[in-house]
Amino acid sequence: MELRVRFLDLKVTDDVERRELLDATETALKHGVLVNGPEVDRFEALFAQACGRRFSIGVNSGTDALFLGLKALGIGPGDEVITTALSWIATANAIRLNGATPVFADIGEDLNVDPESVASLITPATKAILPVHYTGKICQMEKLTALAKAHKLSIVEDAAQAFSATRRGTPAGGFGVLGCFSLNPMKVFAACGEAGAITTNSEELRDRLHALRYNGMRNREVCIEASHNGRLDTIHAAMLLARFPRVKKVVEVRRRNAELYQKALADVVRIPVEKTSDGEFDVFYTYIIKTERRDELKAFLEREGVETKIHHMYLMPEQPAYRDNVRGHFPNAAKLARQILCLPIHEKLNPDDIAYVIRCIRRFFGR
Ligand SMILES: *Cc1c(COP(=O)(O)O)cnc(C)c1O
Repeated sequence: MELRVRFLDLKVTDDVERRELLDATETALKHGVLVNGPEVDRFEALFAQACGRRFSIGVNSGTDALFLGLKALGIGPGDEVITTALSWIATANAIRLNGATPVFADIGEDLNVDPESVASLITPATKAILPVHYTGKICQMEKLTALAKAHKLSIVEDAAQAFSATRRGTPAGGFGVLGCFSLNPMKVFAACGEAGAITTNSEELRDRLHALRYNGMRNREVCIEASHNGRLDTIHAAMLLARFPRVKKVVEVRRRNAELYQKALADVVRIPVEKTSDGEFDVFYTYIIKTERRDELKAFLEREGVETKIHHMYLMPEQPAYRDNVRGHFPNAAKLARQILCLPIHEKLNPDDIAYVIRCIRRFFGR
């Protein structure tokens, strides 16, 4: 059967939106300040405000946001950073590339890092906790913040999937000493190419990150530390500014789609739960169901023209680059990794598309 429901569709199909993006690009081409242009400053101010922070630093990817963030904190050889077992590999790479050791904690049924597992892995070498707000749901930050305080650790949030998610009123990127975001085209707030941002309240860290994102240059002449070039392009900042007012609507549609799934799938698979009692407001970067019959269901949906993904097939510590020398303990993650399946949830899907996916899934389970 032909593909009927795509997992993602990155084409800009809205004529008004496309015009806005082209206009933003044209303005930048006309003023010609193609790096560090005025759009970068304006974007950073807006982004910081949206995350409830004083500053944001635009960078060229979420990977760099994490890498430079940890570097700015001075995390390096001999240091341990506790993170989750289940994330995009960039999370672990950012730790390893700084010369530090990633320590992999277990996850809960919500797929986010389990604070008790994190607590059990703290050693004198631990310098930071790197929680990932997986699927666009914020981690249990009260517990993680208390742990960090008790053990004098920094918290760096991997908020790549969670822009505009909140927990008890605090937005993603508003909890840690640093918040790291990806704005790549797959993310809920998406650039038209690679982009990322870091949030902070610290003026000192902001200044350090300004140097680190440009070869460690403190000004045009003086290099204070070896680093690479990880700046956010003016044109990307301009297009991000144009898209900024649309993010709210994107999240609304994703939440509506999630609600449709919620109502119709709860009796056949394990569905994501938004705990309003914990003040959760999720943005559904992905909508991950769990079932023991995951592989069969995925193959069935493919035959019915429904594209799904597994985020992620391998835990980070199971990857060839990591598996030979793993620190951590994550039995629940190892179990859940075989049950998870991402359904299409993106904002271009209408209720009919969702209804079709629901019908297929119910049919698979004989309902
Ligand atoms: C997307 C993502 C990243 C990396 O972001 P890029 O912009 O692709 O480099 C890091 N962590 C998580 C959890 C992500 O989903």
